Amino acid sequence: MLLETFFDDAVRRWPDAIALDIPPPFGAQAPRVCLTYRELDGIAASIHAHLKLMEVQRGDIVAILTPRTNPLAYAAQLAINRLGAAFVAMDPAFPAGHIGRIISDATPAAIITDNNLALVLADVGYPSAKVLVGEAIGGEPSDRVPVTLERSESDLAYLIYTSGTTGLPKGVMIPHAGISNLVASDIEYFDIQPGDRCAQGSSLSYDSSLEEIWLAWAAGGTVVVMSDEIARLGPDLVTWLQDEHISVLCPPPTLLRTMGCDNPAEALPELRIIYVGGEALPPDVVDAWAPGRRLVNGYGPTECSVTATRAEILPGVPVVIGKPVSNLTAFILDDALKPVSAGDAGELCIAGPGLALGYRNRPELTSEKFVSLPEIGRVYRTGDLARILPNGDIDCMGRIDAQIKLRGYRIELEAIEAELVRCPGILEAACRVQGSGGREELAAWVVMSVDDIDFSAIRNLLAERLPFYMVPSCYGRIDVLPRSVGGKVKRDALPEQAPAFGDDSPVVGAVTELEHCLVAAAAVVLDMPAASISVDADFFLSLGGTSLLAAKWVSRLRMAELTAGVTVRDIYEARSIREIATRITPSAVESKLPEPSGTTDTPQKQFPLLISLLQGVVLLSELVSAALVAAWLASFALPAINLPPSLLLFFIPLLGVASTI
Ligand code: AMP
Repeated sequence: MLLETFFDDAVRRWPDAIALDIPPPFGAQAPRVCLTYRELDGIAASIHAHLKLMEVQRGDIVAILTPRTNPLAYAAQLAINRLGAAFVAMDPAFPAGHIGRIISDATPAAIITDNNLALVLADVGYPSAKVLVGEAIGGEPSDRVPVTLERSESDLAYLIYTSGTTGLPKGVMIPHAGISNLVASDIEYFDIQPGDRCAQGSSLSYDSSLEEIWLAWAAGGTVVVMSDEIARLGPDLVTWLQDEHISVLCPPPTLLRTMGCDNPAEALPELRIIYVGGEALPPDVVDAWAPGRRLVNGYGPTECSVTATRAEILPGVPVVIGKPVSNLTAFILDDALKPVSAGDAGELCIAGPGLALGYRNRPELTSEKFVSLPEIGRVYRTGDLARILPNGDIDCMGRIDAQIKLRGYRIELEAIEAELVRCPGILEAACRVQGSGGREELAAWVVMSVDDIDFSAIRNLLAERLPFYMVPSCYGRIDVLPRSVGGKVKRDALPEQAPAFGDDSPVVGAVTELEHCLVAAAAVVLDMPAASISVDADFFLSLGGTSLLAAKWVSRLRMAELTAGVTVRDIYEARSIREIATRITPSAVESKLPEPSGTTDTPQKQFPLLISLLQGVVLLSELVSAALVAAWLASFALPAINLPPSLLLFFIPLLGVASTI
């Protein structure tokens, strides 16, 4: 089956159900964007028409670079697939260097973006790709043009770039057959209904977003966009889930921890399904979140179309990753790729229609990871150590290689090491995760060719080249890397604690009562003496703070009247205790407090034209060049004097981009 046929079916069955709901940022007075299946279908049809004019064809790749708060990010996926092309979504939070590498590997025929991000693209360069700026698509949605293309299930549906060992991201190529197999099986497994509200919190550059979206769309449910900012709310996320009446949530387990919710069953009675995945599910998260609802643990590498196995998880019962998704088969193989004896541990290998076509432009790596075995056929070697329990459930026991998961992000440590040795003064490098219980951090150990290194400069260099979650927060100097007899780096044998970057600057003590309160609470959650906490230190970079610790800090601050108004957003934006204290004035607190539960208006249906106009107003204010402003005005002025705008609409974004070069 082709992926978009699930949506076509939903448009036919539930045209007026809400397909996409984009709530405003938490506590903000911005408009909500709410689109029915019919309306979203119309927007997809408009994009489809534009892409056709740009001569995008079956087999092409089209990149999407827009925030998840823009409906185009979702409609574009449908439009691209309907043309027989595949999409690759890039996260606007990626550094320009990372975006550049994806574009040069994917060589997209077109890129769909918005005015702001078109500027980023102009810096990166996009040889041979045509750029379609979303604002040009505004106006009333088009009627759907019947798609008469010759299509096949083995056509590529999407490309997802994951961390590669060499430092270059690798593009996993997923065909329609793979993702459709999962969606069809999810329909049966989860029994989602129209009226279900499924939170979409994952970056569109990760494949978990596809399952979040299609859980809803294949069943007439609503995709409710949980923006990155909302996902970082910590304890306030509980209020958001209540206000948004979320019934299905697919978080990495660590996100559940950041909410610090004592009694989720009581606080979130409408949340009927939690579908965790992406990393090992800790038993304490199960005990807290399983009561009162279905808790499902999904396991799967990107290379197997998001999810390969699933398990229903019950409190007090050991966590497993369960049994394969329909039509997939799991094998446990030894080093010689022969099945192990029943119950023995070995490498988990997956076979079936969910398998990727391979890695784009990487034939050697493809044949290394996707192997054809005489009695089994083509399998994907997951790199996970696992065993099959007597009841058929699979127990995942960790990684065989140097791939790690940190706060849900898949990271190849070799990729970071490869970037480190490209930095001046570094001869060799090895990375590991240090800390535990929510205090896990990436640590880099380096062998230097010079006497002294400015680690803050190294950190900045890495931040330009790697996604933020791959940039180590701690750095240490080592004379020789620990190695096995065979010469392999033994990351486990690296020293346990590298210093947090920047902690050699002098401690600036708290002055006001408010600062003292903030320091005292930080000392408890960071488990360090209050006297060593500098009020001007960056919570994340210098003090070793993480999203979980930020959430815990806020929970603790809520207990005291003086600091009750601090939000997780304050921590992310202000970063230091001094800056956070500056924000906590009575008026600031008042304007930030969440609306009480139940007072949020029910989503209002709005016309796409209105949405486009509102987005236009916001974006217009952000336009930086006179050329762009003129072009933008022209797109409205022309229709008013009855000239056909469609041709000009294509040149406006190009003009805009050109004006920045
Ligand atoms: P990704 O391709 O980013 O989805 O990462 C896939 C890898 O994440 C797997 O090979 C596992 O190592 C790990 N992983 C994903 N889901 C789970 C899970 N439910 N339990 C344990 N590990 C998981």
